[in-house]
Amino acid sequence: MDHSIVDLRSDTVTRPTEGMREAMAAADVGDDVYGEDPTVRELEERVAGLLGHEAALYVPSGTMGNQLGLRLSVPPGGELLCDADAHVLCYESGAAAWYGGIQTRTVLSSRGLLDPDLVAAQLRPMTRAIAVEQTHNRGGGSVYPIETLRELRRVADEAGVGLHCDGARIWNAHVATGVPLTSYGALAGTLSVCLSKGLGAPVGSLLVSSTERVAEGRRLRRSLGGGMRQAGVLAAAGLHALDHHLVRLADDHARARRLAEGLAPYADSSATETNIVRLDLSDAPVSAADLASKAGEEGVRCNATGPSTVRLVTHLDVDDAGVDRALAVLRPLLGC
Ligand SMILES: *Cc1c(COP(=O)(O)O)cnc(C)c1O
Repeated sequence: MDHSIVDLRSDTVTRPTEGMREAMAAADVGDDVYGEDPTVRELEERVAGLLGHEAALYVPSGTMGNQLGLRLSVPPGGELLCDADAHVLCYESGAAAWYGGIQTRTVLSSRGLLDPDLVAAQLRPMTRAIAVEQTHNRGGGSVYPIETLRELRRVADEAGVGLHCDGARIWNAHVATGVPLTSYGALAGTLSVCLSKGLGAPVGSLLVSSTERVAEGRRLRRSLGGGMRQAGVLAAAGLHALDHHLVRLADDHARARRLAEGLAPYADSSATETNIVRLDLSDAPVSAADLASKAGEEGVRCNATGPSTVRLVTHLDVDDAGVDRALAVLRPLLGC
């Protein structure tokens, strides 16, 4: 592995492995807008089955998967409840409001994880859905305990509203906790899952739900320009990722914990549950922006996520030597 750059900005920066490229080159393809791409169909069936749902729809991005999921539950003028740090709110360019006419209302949370009692207290007639994020990105890769999700589902059912799971990193939650993917899947009416994060595919996410909802999602996908033709070349990367890169997410989690331990007291290793390390630099001798720029000059890339917060993400292209290198650069800058 090339260690001239250790890129900890995101788990989206991975490049396809040789094996993945071979699988892509060998993919059987057809026109997916005609429903004729066998590799896309295989991926959709495989992912639906993994989550215990009837159907899935291959989409170009997690953002599109989320937005389709929200629109299937919330009509224009309806309300979505989510936490204030939710990806659907912070990083999707206003799409819920812009394309869906959806009003979002936020519920306070700790590390991005909604408290079912607080959600129940905020429900009102115009609320049509609740969104959760598994694992939680801005929450530092935090994992929703399955009991909390069960409670949220109960709250949603009692109010007759939908529960959407932004499962971009649901794979990490599954590997970290051992909770079966089908158990997570059973609690959400719609899910979006990403193949382009820790699983290391270059492109691709899926919307997962019932046959009926996915059929409507397919129509909405077309209206957003998300109908793709010989997409089997890309779907093959996703199938390869599920075969080869799922179990190894545990390595990313161990490396994230090692990073957090080495960066105490600015990181909390006990709060590092998956592949994301959150640094709190409130009491550090360097600002988040300065740390990111100085580390970058030494070949260790990370993202400032606020004036005094930095995010480090482990993935397929960061090995043990990369973690050593990152610690050797970051520790002196932080004086720890
Ligand atoms: C990355 C991510 C997405 C999807 O992002 P795209 O760049 O649109 O694929 C959705 N939710 C979360 C929590 C994410 O981290």
